[in-house]
Amino acid sequence: MTIGSGPTKPPEEVGIANPVARVLLVEDEPSLVLTLRDRLLACRYKVESCGDGKIALELADKKPFDLVILDVMLPGMDGFDVCRELRRRGMEVPILMLTARSLVVDKVVGLKLGADDYLTKPFEMMELLARIEVLLRRGRTSPQVGEGIFCFNDVRVDFRRAEVTRNDDVLPLSAMEYRLLRYFIEHRGAVISRDQLLDQVWGYDATPFSRTVDVHVASLRQKVEPQPARPQFIVTVHRLGYRFDG
Ligand code: CA
Repeated sequence: MTIGSGPTKPPEEVGIANPVARVLLVEDEPSLVLTLRDRLLACRYKVESCGDGKIALELADKKPFDLVILDVMLPGMDGFDVCRELRRRGMEVPILMLTARSLVVDKVVGLKLGADDYLTKPFEMMELLARIEVLLRRGRTSPQVGEGIFCFNDVRVDFRRAEVTRNDDVLPLSAMEYRLLRYFIEHRGAVISRDQLLDQVWGYDATPFSRTVDVHVASLRQKVEPQPARPQFIVTVHRLGYRFDG
């Protein structure tokens, strides 16, 4: 089912969504609001919607949401401004931006302002729902890690300060190495493929080479592993990817 373009067909069945997730839908196109609302409710999300950026900010201030679906083209305050303002107010809710334009610059601006994902209209309902689920999963795993400190061996990761120390010495991790380490910690024990890392850690800046991942993992190991040549924590899973055993 393609949303935001032309006639609609009956919706497909999709997997079970998180039954308690609260979604704020910020979109000014009535027919799209109706379609999305119905579909999200059918997936057992709780949905509030508004077509105005300022009202969206008020709603987000009043009650917690698990996800914001934010259209870029809104009358008055546009989606970019709403996104920027939500982040400025310290709200870490996952934001999925929607736009009618497929300009790369829009994508980059949105992500730089703190949006988590981006979808261009027209889009498939299935794709929207899949992305919502990913963002909600990520949102659920991040806070515990995001607010705390994680230690493994002699390495201490302070997520508040985005600082990694080893025996009290600050490790000079690059931004990408830090994001990679954070992702590993958030998914510890799970096998993570190179594609997943490219998608989730590199995101839209991804160079489409899994070799990129290997290079960064190698340099991260040099900094955090006791014996980088024989990794104990960031282990290679043959043919599948990596697993963090911290
Ligand atoms: Ca719009």
